[in-house]
Amino acid sequence: MGEKPEFSIVVPVFNEKDCLQEMHRRVSEVMDTTGKDWEMIIIDDGSRDGSTDQIRELGKKDSRVKPVIFARNFGHQIAVTAGMDYASGNAIVIIDADLQDPPEVILQLIDKWREGYQVVYAVRGEREGESWFKTFTASFFYRLIQRITDVNIPLDTGDFRLLDRKVVNVMNSMREKHRFLRGMSAWVGFKSTGVTYKRAARFAGTTKYPLKKMLLLALNAITSFSYFPLQMATYVGFIAAGLSTVAIPIVIIMRLAGSQAFFGQATTLLAVLFLGGVQLISLGILGEYIGRIYDEVKGRPLYIISEAPERPSDKPLTGE
Ligand code: UDP
Ligand code: MG
Repeated sequence: MGEKPEFSIVVPVFNEKDCLQEMHRRVSEVMDTTGKDWEMIIIDDGSRDGSTDQIRELGKKDSRVKPVIFARNFGHQIAVTAGMDYASGNAIVIIDADLQDPPEVILQLIDKWREGYQVVYAVRGEREGESWFKTFTASFFYRLIQRITDVNIPLDTGDFRLLDRKVVNVMNSMREKHRFLRGMSAWVGFKSTGVTYKRAARFAGTTKYPLKKMLLLALNAITSFSYFPLQMATYVGFIAAGLSTVAIPIVIIMRLAGSQAFFGQATTLLAVLFLGGVQLISLGILGEYIGRIYDEVKGRPLYIISEAPERPSDKPLTGE
């Protein structure tokens, strides 16, 4: 590898064949105005629509483009992780391939970086062309995370951001399997600031983040940064035990006094069903955490590469 570029642009791609050319054109146009060297790491996250060939093609035409091709789909957060592993710039910019994050905003991120900020995240001020459902669930999700996690994740930010080399080095050393990069970059700390931008509509294609993937991301975010769901069982347990401690003597006394209240199957059945439900939910929550522990213990690589350039460091290529 030659000289290290000043900037690395990390672009995760999953079936974005109609966006790639335009993304490359617009990002290049913007990056060329910086007057510095830059590279673009495009991660093909197991695309099946011909994006892979296009990425290889871009790599051949433009030596600044470095294709990293996965053996299968590993998910957006893992794709970005691989991009950060391969990036060698002093500042790393993560941007979506669908041009929802306008490349022009990169210049504002860079300005803040030059002022001395190590994390510059882009805050979604307005959104274009997204359903109210997506906007609503996203906004709910960010606020929930904010409330129950221990790290201060800025509201309404996605992964579109600039990270200083120092931050990326720390994040690259965190090899947790269920990754929530926004949380990780907040957890790492450093001097951070935000730049507000207007999130554009997709250039082409449809979202690759269906509800199921969004829910999974939310679960990963919560379990990675909070024990709150685990503690919920304790709270509910105390409440139920407290209530019954009060209720037991009352019922005994009423029965001794000859009262007919609290007889009947319905009452018993409801109490059993309710507690059974609470117990199953608690077990499920335990399961979520145990499953994640199991994934960590297995120690499998984060991703599997089928084609990639040389890595800036001499680490093996498997994303261990
Ligand atoms: N993406 C990916 N792997 C996936 C899903 C998405 O690399 O499994 C990429 C996708 O190609 C895009 C970015 O992640 O560049 C964000 O995805 P998308 O635009 O579909 O999400 P949205 O903006 O709708 O939240
Ligand atoms: Mg998008």
